[in-house]
Amino acid sequence: MLPFQDALYYVLQNCRKLKPALTPVEKSRGLVLAQDVVALEAIPPFANTAMDGFAVRSQDVKTPPSTLRIIETIAAGHSPKMEVCEGEASRIMTGAPIPDGANAIVMVEQTEVDGDELTVNISVPVGNHIRPIGDDIPKGELVFEKGTLLTPGHLGVLSSLGLVEVVVLPRPRVGVISTGDELVADGSALKAGQIRDSNRCTLLALLEENDMSPVDLGLLPDNEDAIEKGLVEGAATCDALITSGGVSMGDFDYVKSVLQRIADMRWMQIDIKPAKPLAFGLIADTPIFGLPGNPVSSMVSFELFARPGLRAMMGRADPLRKRVVATAAENLGRRPDGKTHFVRAIVDYVDGKVFVKSGGGQGSHMLASMARSNSLAILPDGSGYSKGDSLEVLILD
Ligand code: AMP
Ligand code: MG
Repeated sequence: MLPFQDALYYVLQNCRKLKPALTPVEKSRGLVLAQDVVALEAIPPFANTAMDGFAVRSQDVKTPPSTLRIIETIAAGHSPKMEVCEGEASRIMTGAPIPDGANAIVMVEQTEVDGDELTVNISVPVGNHIRPIGDDIPKGELVFEKGTLLTPGHLGVLSSLGLVEVVVLPRPRVGVISTGDELVADGSALKAGQIRDSNRCTLLALLEENDMSPVDLGLLPDNEDAIEKGLVEGAATCDALITSGGVSMGDFDYVKSVLQRIADMRWMQIDIKPAKPLAFGLIADTPIFGLPGNPVSSMVSFELFARPGLRAMMGRADPLRKRVVATAAENLGRRPDGKTHFVRAIVDYVDGKVFVKSGGGQGSHMLASMARSNSLAILPDGSGYSKGDSLEVLILD
């Protein structure tokens, strides 16, 4: 059996970064910058007030109460027309530019108004409640480096800088193919021996959840020609492919026979449970993950191999799921078999501590327990853990 880390390393090595592409800022969340971003504009672009109130000269309000004359009202988005001279003030709204002559803002709450007469009940220092030009980001500053993962906050900053497009590593288009004569995908009544196609829907949703671009390539019968056509067309139009089923040792596992012909494949038996078999390779330059058909195996295999590989293609510096150390809330037993077990598990966060319990039935056909779980508890070869033990857990949400 191949050690898990070796299998993962092989996958990561063969999942090359995608070509950078210019992308609209509003579509770039979850993607990695392929350029440095330098501020071509200052933020804020002009000195403005942080408060609704009055623009004054600090020296005019030294000994409260001070009486000033209101000369104009400045709304956000409008330019001041008057200079504030001795004994004068301009009413001003949050975000509006500071008028010439003024050097401080008094909050409206600290004033009284009678017609155009203003009483200021406080003294304020020079610069009070004024946000200077470039206070957040000066013009010319290196704001974000190449390699930065873009979050909603980053998109806000890019928009503030006036950028409408950025160069990022794009979302990989990942084609998903289900295979199997037993599968029904249209909701019709099951005939003898049939089951419903659940993997395709799950895998497409996993891709979506991971900020990738899922491409539904449908359900293919156990027919060599149909599978070859599906794989060749998929490889030509997608950045990566995921198949489920048909890669085991059965008589009708045609995905395996086709891939053996048209792809450069590695057939792995990995020292883990579930998801021991993994077929991974390249059709020309397109990575293909031949995941097992069993629904849980296909999900776990996606989490352990396909997701990291696809994230590497997206330039993610953190391709792997986070591992935390949790306390076993119950016994998590197992038998020695030379494999690491990834046990569907439920993690709870209580008073800042992490507790983990089993997510239920661990058969690789038992998808409901996978759906209820939010993590995979890592049980190295041996006899498992007792209640109260510390163990590593992969967090899936
Ligand atoms: P296979 O790898 O094709 O031998 O499939 C292994 C098991 O997974 C069989 O019980 C299949 O019926 C089941 N299976 C394969 N593909 C799917 C799918 N797309 N949805 C649900 N079960 C599947
Ligand atoms: Mg099959």
